[in-house]
Amino acid sequence: QQSGLLAYRHVEPGTRDGRKIQVAANMGSLSELESAQQAGAMGVGLFRTELLFMERQRVPTEDEQYEVYARLARAFSPWSVIIRTLDAGGDKPLPGIRLPKEENPFLGWRGIRMSLDCPEVFEPQLRALLRAAAHGNLCVMLPMVADLQEIRRTKAIIGRLAAELSSAGIPHAIPKLGIMIETPAAVLTADLLAQEVDFFSIGTNDLTQYIMAADRMNPRLAPLYKTGHPAVIQAIRLVCEAAKRAHISVGVCGEAASSPHMIPIFVNLGVDELSMSPNAILRAKKIIMEMPPPGEPGKG
Ligand code: PEP
Ligand code: MG
Repeated sequence: QQSGLLAYRHVEPGTRDGRKIQVAANMGSLSELESAQQAGAMGVGLFRTELLFMERQRVPTEDEQYEVYARLARAFSPWSVIIRTLDAGGDKPLPGIRLPKEENPFLGWRGIRMSLDCPEVFEPQLRALLRAAAHGNLCVMLPMVADLQEIRRTKAIIGRLAAELSSAGIPHAIPKLGIMIETPAAVLTADLLAQEVDFFSIGTNDLTQYIMAADRMNPRLAPLYKTGHPAVIQAIRLVCEAAKRAHISVGVCGEAASSPHMIPIFVNLGVDELSMSPNAILRAKKIIMEMPPPGEPGKG
């Protein structure tokens, strides 16, 4: 079956009404680079940087991070490579960073909240990203955004770091900046947030948990924890509409992005990019290519 799918390796799928859909890879380390390329990944839609911090038992240096990010940018050029800044906290404790014990870690000090409070972690990562951006189509993405100020503060830091790199004569470029849409607050203010960034990527794993108020790790809540639930679909619809109004691109990078019954729903809602584990990419391309034209019912 996989051999039949191989025909899709170089396919750049589109809908019958002519929209291109970018099918990209979710990655967590360079060890997945080859499998992503062999699967025909059209770039990287989510590079989770947590593993870089976990595998060393300490915070990786700016240069260590730069090597990884630059290698990815070069490997997939001209496709975009979206690197997510550190998403620690909640379910993701990290060695070398002291996370406080919290009553509600999923509602706690995590993602961009932590990064903005820890410049000694955030700034080396951003500097590494600015330097790597000189090597390809590198984009930076912020996790767990709930408030406009989180974006504005990050942009101010990026501006200062870029000026410092310029004065030091260090090659760099300003990457595109995007945010993950994972909180109900981001959904409900998507029009405002869209004015500040170049792209959205919907993190359906967390968005589902926060919209449904159902812990993504609790098996008892599995019947409620459904990305296909009308409440979650409505949230995704609002985000896609806001992205279209602002003329920015919108992707999905949660597990649901590779689900055969969710893919047509996302595509019909206007999603431009689906990012998933490399082993799901060929099947996703096939599913998109076989979708009936809009307005025509599928075979079910
Ligand atoms: C998500 O929340 O959907 C997502 C892609 O991020 P993570 O699974 O790393 O929290
Ligand atoms: Mg998430």
